[in-house]
Amino acid sequence: MISKREIKAFLAKHPAFDDISVSQQAVSKQPSAMLAETRKVVAYARKFNEEVVRPYALTLDMTMQENPAHLPWEFVKKANDWGLYTLWIPKLFGGKGFNFPSICAFLEEIGSECLAMANLIGVHYLGFAVGCSSWNVRLIKQLCADTLQGEQSGEPALISLALTEPGAGTDVEETELMDKGSVSCHAKKVDGGYIVNGTKVFISNGHLSRWHMLIAYADLGKPSSSTVMLAVETGTKGFSFGRMEKKMGQKGCPASELMFDNCFIPDENVLFDAEQGKKLKRGLSETNMQIIDFYFAASRAGVGAFGVGAARGAYREALNYAMTSELNGRPLIDHEWVQCLLAEMYKNMALGRFAYLEANYATGMHGMYKLLQQKQMYYLTKLTPKFVIDKTILPLLDKPWVTALMRKAYFDMQSEREIDITSGLASLAKFSGTDAGIRNCHLALELMGQSGLRHDRRAEKIMRDAKLLQIYEGTNQLNRLNLFKCLIASGTPDVKMFGRQ
Ligand SMILES: Cc1cc2nc3c(=O)[nH]c(=O)nc-3n(C[C@H](O)[C@H](O)[C@H](O)COP(=O)(O)OP(=O)(O)OC[C@H]3O[C@@H](n4cnc5c(N)ncnc54)[C@H](O)[C@@H]3O)c2cc1C
Repeated sequence: MISKREIKAFLAKHPAFDDISVSQQAVSKQPSAMLAETRKVVAYARKFNEEVVRPYALTLDMTMQENPAHLPWEFVKKANDWGLYTLWIPKLFGGKGFNFPSICAFLEEIGSECLAMANLIGVHYLGFAVGCSSWNVRLIKQLCADTLQGEQSGEPALISLALTEPGAGTDVEETELMDKGSVSCHAKKVDGGYIVNGTKVFISNGHLSRWHMLIAYADLGKPSSSTVMLAVETGTKGFSFGRMEKKMGQKGCPASELMFDNCFIPDENVLFDAEQGKKLKRGLSETNMQIIDFYFAASRAGVGAFGVGAARGAYREALNYAMTSELNGRPLIDHEWVQCLLAEMYKNMALGRFAYLEANYATGMHGMYKLLQQKQMYYLTKLTPKFVIDKTILPLLDKPWVTALMRKAYFDMQSEREIDITSGLASLAKFSGTDAGIRNCHLALELMGQSGLRHDRRAEKIMRDAKLLQIYEGTNQLNRLNLFKCLIASGTPDVKMFGRQ
């Protein structure tokens, strides 16, 4: 019908075809043991939901309503005791080493009961992903060691991402927009480090975190090529917390203001800057976009999973209501219009899940998860005894050549097409999952009438919580534009985007 050579030539001419078959390519290349591991994670999440999340979700929401300054340490300590902040730290760094895509299955489960609590766990891994995206192996090792130590001591050591500024939210997520926006967090290079001045807002888990992955700029007139990524520890002189936002949903997860006033950050805490990036193949602006794409490709799939969790929560409450209520003397569930509505809700949730699964396959094939999901590496890290890793691998991770090697492998060897597929599919997962969440909340509230508006029926809380998902990790509009950029416009360079002339 068509020869192998013709197929190869066709794909070379039409690379866009690749993005619809990532899962099929991945199935034969990625380790089959990942499935059993994901099942284990889901079972653990359900146990945690039953014992911790569901019994406490409404109470935490109410507590925050009455006292917005409350810091939910009681929940964070429980999550820490259950080992949830180290489950996805790779074995090579001393963690439990569950495969990264399984975190989405976990977040969907927790999110189906309470998105605030899902975020109290998920944001730690967003911070971790940002640290990892710099491929500064020595600092990644330190972040892992501190989180592990926090688990052992019972004093959680969480990581946050400090990117958004009072005057720049969407702008800091896209280098094309950055230079035209009004970023203001300044990092001035001085002897031995940087002096930071500026403010970050809406930082999830800010007040609860020990480490903050701070994104600042050495030249405020040209931020895209002067981005400085810093690891800032709580307690550093010149760094303080400001207000906590009073927001419509996810009340249990604090959104904090972080303030930097002549805050000195030593060179040893610089994750990445222009100096470290100068040996890379791409220019600084392109590399900074690549870094943003690395971490958002991972975390946007996670937010898509939050959205699917919300869609599931709304579906569950609607189904429950339909099973226990009557209309015209018949159980509600026996009415065909209700059956159609529930089928629609099921579809929203299933399609959202397919989207984040596909995005994770792409990240496993072409993005951040690639190394640990190659079969040989996967089984090697699983089977090597901990004492061997501790003796042979851990000490190597401090060496500058390891960081240089990882950066070569990740930054220089990732092709433009691979960046586009991972980033574009992650955006697709983000807006599909979160729109599905909101859509199901609307349908659930329509079905449930006044009952759905009651706090104890949970549906109204899920709706308040889900709305926020359409805004963070890039608004859904920005994610639609990113999909356009990566998967539609990438083959047509004449298309103007982000006001580009
Ligand atoms: C609950 C919550 C938690 C958060 N957690 C964190 C966190 O942990 N760390 C962190 O750094 N940030 C966090 N954020 C911030 C979040 O990432 C930003 O809110 C988000 O990026 C949007 O920025 P903005 O709110 O400033 O909106 P704006 O950028 O002001 O956007 C306003 C509107 O304009 C549209 N818009 C803007 N620019 C464009 C454009 N070029 N083209 C088309 N439309 C455009 C947007 O889509 C939106 O509709 C959080 C936000 C929330 C709500």
